Amino acid sequence: MRQGIALKKIVEYVARKASMLGQKYNLEDLVTPSIVPMFDKSIDKIVSIIVRNSNGLWCGLCEKGPFTKRGLYLHLIRVHSKDIEYMVHDELKKLLEVVKK
Ligand SMILES: [Zn+2]
Repeated sequence: MRQGIALKKIVEYVARKASMLGQKYNLEDLVTPSIVPMFDKSIDKIVSIIVRNSNGLWCGLCEKGPFTKRGLYLHLIRVHSKDIEYMVHDELKKLLEVVKK
């Protein structure tokens, strides 16, 4: 299934969004176009969990920080890519179930 391949790219997308860095991919290229608007909201939800923005960028998962944008991105990818992968997978599963109905 194509999703498995895209999951790592989606994790990167989420980490970049959380760190407020520019994107390398379009969401439209990563998931089925029909779920993009809903998935975009899911990503915002995940981002609000994994980053805390107060006097700098803090990791919402382990409370480390403050980070620079690049520093937070690297931290998320190196330390929390599995956590993010689970969250993304969960949201995708929910969305795809909704779409099927
Ligand atoms: Zn952390």
